[in-house]
Amino acid sequence: MKFDFEGQTAIVTGGTRGIGKSISEAFLNAGAKVIATYRSNKTAAQEFKEANSAHADNLDLQSFDVSNADEVTKFFEYVDTNYPSLEILVNNSGIRKDQVLAMMKENDWNAVIDTNLSGTYLMSKPAVKSMMRKRYGRIITITSPIGRLGFPGQANYAASKAGQVALTQSLSKEVASRGITVNCVSPGFIETDFIEDLPEKQKEGYLGLVPLKRFGTPEEVAHCVLFLADRGSAYITGSVLEITGGI
Ligand code: NDP
Repeated sequence: MKFDFEGQTAIVTGGTRGIGKSISEAFLNAGAKVIATYRSNKTAAQEFKEANSAHADNLDLQSFDVSNADEVTKFFEYVDTNYPSLEILVNNSGIRKDQVLAMMKENDWNAVIDTNLSGTYLMSKPAVKSMMRKRYGRIITITSPIGRLGFPGQANYAASKAGQVALTQSLSKEVASRGITVNCVSPGFIETDFIEDLPEKQKEGYLGLVPLKRFGTPEEVAHCVLFLADRGSAYITGSVLEITGGI
């Protein structure tokens, strides 16, 4: 499928590493202006910028914390000042802090909920206001099947990911009449830093769950995101598109 996002602006949170990097690159290759955001990993951001120097005119890197309301407000002031319109928001940034619930520190509970769920709320609110003015928009949030399955040691992560789906379904109904669609992409096990730190035995166990017998690639997730962001996907809203290799 050949996508064309010429003339459109996309924000991709966590857009400089892992899945987000592939999403940013796929939008750049399809002609979009991309604002790729990150929190603090300047080295990864710089590498990403250099690797995409061919798209320098269409690429803007911004760093802030999606869970910090003031920083999100400042970021959207910058977007409003520097971009005529915003067509696409991809809520991709996310963290894990795994521990069985009985041992889970309150800080780790809060950090995961604040980043994954509240970050999605904080980013979607100004984006939707901007999109409502133009009566067009695409919001895509990267959730996880863990949100519906639950995994031991991931109560905070599962709750945040289930919350993203609930937020998506409610918001999709609020803005449907304004030409804005709101969907989730739900990747299974994807080869990124996110799962790199898991013990080898756990990774083998996860692989055993996948009927297609391999982990997915960030490029395959990006393909799903661009599909939902395409103008032609106007009749898909409030949906969760799973890309799990058949789990
Ligand atoms: P990575 O750990 O590779 O990258 C995470 C990105 O999010 C980084 O760019 C990071 O910024 C950014 N980020 C983290 N916290 C914040 C914050 N508070 N404010 C702003 N940016 C932040 O993750 P993945 O690419 O693997 O995952 C991306 C998304 O996909 C996540 O939402 C994850 O839950 C989801 N997902 C991943 C799966 C997988 O197997 N990899 C499976 C299912 C879902 P910085 O570079 O500065 O650290």
